[in-house]
Amino acid sequence: MNFPLSLPYTHLPQRWDVLIAGGGTAGAIAGIAAAREGAKVLVLEAQGSLGGTGTNAWVTPLMKNVSGGVNLNRGLTDQLKARLLSRGDGAHDGGGNDNWFNPEGLKYVLERMLIEAGGEVLYHTNVVAPIVKDERITSLVIHNKGSLQAISADAFIDATGDADVAAAAGVPFHAGDEDGLHQAMSLRFSLAGVDLERLCAFLTQNGQWQESPRFMHFWMVWNKKSSLEPLFRQAISDGVLEERDGDYFQAFSVPGRASELSFNCPRIRADLNDGANPWHLSAAQTDGRESIERLINFCRLYLPGCEDAYLGTYAPMVGVRETRRIVGDYTLTLTDILECRKFEDSICKNHYPVDIHSVKGGAKLLHEREGTAPYFAADAYHEIPYRAIVPQGISNLLVPGRSASSSFEAQSSIRVQQNCHSMGEAAGVAAAWAAREYGGDVRRVGGAALRERLREWGANV
Ligand SMILES: Cc1cc2nc3c(=O)[nH]c(=O)nc-3n(C[C@H](O)[C@H](O)[C@H](O)COP(=O)(O)OP(=O)(O)OC[C@H]3O[C@@H](n4cnc5c(N)ncnc54)[C@H](O)[C@@H]3O)c2cc1C
Repeated sequence: MNFPLSLPYTHLPQRWDVLIAGGGTAGAIAGIAAAREGAKVLVLEAQGSLGGTGTNAWVTPLMKNVSGGVNLNRGLTDQLKARLLSRGDGAHDGGGNDNWFNPEGLKYVLERMLIEAGGEVLYHTNVVAPIVKDERITSLVIHNKGSLQAISADAFIDATGDADVAAAAGVPFHAGDEDGLHQAMSLRFSLAGVDLERLCAFLTQNGQWQESPRFMHFWMVWNKKSSLEPLFRQAISDGVLEERDGDYFQAFSVPGRASELSFNCPRIRADLNDGANPWHLSAAQTDGRESIERLINFCRLYLPGCEDAYLGTYAPMVGVRETRRIVGDYTLTLTDILECRKFEDSICKNHYPVDIHSVKGGAKLLHEREGTAPYFAADAYHEIPYRAIVPQGISNLLVPGRSASSSFEAQSSIRVQQNCHSMGEAAGVAAAWAAREYGGDVRRVGGAALRERLREWGANV
């Protein structure tokens, strides 16, 4: 990269075994896993807390990834859940689903786990670009209040979600669907001051069964037979909502937040769909806040129990579902999912469906279709190989998380948080190993041996 080299920057004297760009869903877990392997590891994070989309975009709950009654993600995901549960920031519902969590609690838990494992984090720091020599990254140029600085390591993990480092290092990537359009973004928010007892009773009596005020989930999407559709129609004719507000509306209760709901909406305007475009990202905040005004007003006026509710929080980060997907040594496809492909170098098992929040209208959900492929069996799953996080063209970089090497359809299925945890855990172990034994060369870490090591740490691989 010429750009950072032509600007003045200082070179930090410390050297690291593993540097991680982005301390989000995959990156924070990668940092814990690498530190637990004994590596000197530093996580570089743009925000002031770990967890990324799961915390700073307020994306709750963890999506279920179960096959044959077994949770397919174990390892550090289990440890996270146990810690959240012990603090009252996590919960099991009556159906045994243990994926409910409080995003603010998760920030604390991830930070403690990283520090206890011996890892470090540098917040409020943007990774600007890698310095690359002979298909190897030598340093990352970062920007923070100390201005531009270069920082060196043996192995690197790009967990920015957007493959910022990989793309700048020249790794080939794909982005969007066949027309270059990405999945819709959302700006999540919470509504506080809700009388959950009354709301729960109202929803249960009006066609959306709720387990209890502690475990609520309600939704409305046009033409999907939601019992809330008549209320949405009424609110549109009253001038409270706009048609687009019913494209996707969904809310969940949150453990440890007694009178609050977390909303998986509003969906951002269709033309603003590229989360790696700073102009789209910025406009998404403005567009999202306008929609949130309408949605809060709707809740107050039409949903019993919400009369005195108020905005709890705007998620600090826009929720971005898909941007760049690297081209790795293996690219996972829809066929791999439908045929339940297994791999010798598997690092993760998945049964979460293809779930595309399309900006072209409608949602494409594989699990809603009839199907005869092996994937549709109740105990089915496919695997994600280590090679899907190994980018082409660079020897000492791994790319776990939503920008792993996958087709548009396959990405929509593997992107959920627990899979990002599993990919992050594998990346952390592999990067630590590569730094210790192979000068950072991640291809010399044998996939089958890595899988064995992950099993020793309790992963379900
Ligand atoms: C609206 C929405 C709803 C969803 N719903 C669910 C759900 O209900 N359940 C579920 O399990 N999954 C859900 N998902 C999917 C899942 O949350 C994400 O795919 C996953 O969290 C992505 O993890 P990641 O590690 O790849 O990226 P992220 O978690 O986004 O982490 C990226 C991190 O890198 C940092 N970063 C980025 N660029 C830089 C840089 N240049 N320098 C330094 N730091 C940087 C960011 O600040 C962030 O912390 C949803 C996603 C969205 C957007």
